[in-house]
Amino acid sequence: ERKQLYRLRREPTRTVDGVDIRLFANAESRADVAEAHALGAAGIGLYRTEFLFLQRQAPPDEEEQFRAYRDVVLGMTGRAVTIRTLDLGADKADRAGLSVRAEPNPALGLRGVRLSLARDGLLDAQLRALVRASGYGPVRILLPMICAREEILRVRAALDRVAGELRAQGHEVAERVPLGAMIEVPAAAIALPGFIDDVDFLSIGTNDLVQYLLAVDRGNEALSDLYSPLHPAVLRVLRYVIRLGQRAGKPVAVCGEMAGDPHFAPLLLALGLCEFSLHPATLLEVRRTIRACDLDALRAQAPALLRARDRAAIEAWIGANMPC
Ligand code: PEP
Ligand code: MG
Repeated sequence: ERKQLYRLRREPTRTVDGVDIRLFANAESRADVAEAHALGAAGIGLYRTEFLFLQRQAPPDEEEQFRAYRDVVLGMTGRAVTIRTLDLGADKADRAGLSVRAEPNPALGLRGVRLSLARDGLLDAQLRALVRASGYGPVRILLPMICAREEILRVRAALDRVAGELRAQGHEVAERVPLGAMIEVPAAAIALPGFIDDVDFLSIGTNDLVQYLLAVDRGNEALSDLYSPLHPAVLRVLRYVIRLGQRAGKPVAVCGEMAGDPHFAPLLLALGLCEFSLHPATLLEVRRTIRACDLDALRAQAPALLRARDRAAIEAWIGANMPC
């Protein structure tokens, strides 16, 4: 059984009716990158940079970050590498030497792109390192906790400036480094038509999106029963974001834990998803499930899925549409 699964590392993630789905990997270490490559991931869909920043007195400088990002790019030998800018908040920032005053609600506080924009030099150093790494292979930059168009425009301006400076200094960098937004704050999903033209791609962070949509703390064990993507509101937002992205010709991935659970794969395919980003640990299982799915038949079942009024009805839909 394990052997059978392992054989799939060389097989395409192709549905029964012949459509190729792209499986990207979530990674935060060298080992993850090596595993993603070995399992035939289409690229890295989410490289979490927090790891580089934690357990130290001061943030890593541009040079240290550049080497780390370049190594990820080289490790993926030409496949796309999506690197997320720092996603820390008051709950963890002190461990990165970034003093952020304690906050009663760090999940609603100065975190993600908000912190990057608030601290002089933090964003610039990271962008410079990322743009320099783009000279070694395809790099995409992903912004966490995007809530409003202004944040994207501010980062875009910084990115353009930094890329111009690096070229002027003689660095060979990509002509264009795609900039994408995480959709994990409900306001970003709702306001998406207003800024979709300002981004190159989208990645839906269901871990936080579920937390914020349902007002359920993702880390609160007393609420673990309530913390589930199988809520009609979550499915509608997923459908909405995937649709808008496709209409605008912008790639849309899901990079939350949901994408790494084979149980949810038929549901995500029915909602129109073509790109998953998941931890390498379950990549082959998800590939196996997708290879057993009939995409056309699942998409025909999307209206029924979106009519489900509660979790039991969504679970019944999954039960009825799970292959084999
Ligand atoms: C998410 O929120 O779904 C996500 C992928 O990011 P993180 O789990 O790092 O918050
Ligand atoms: Mg998140």
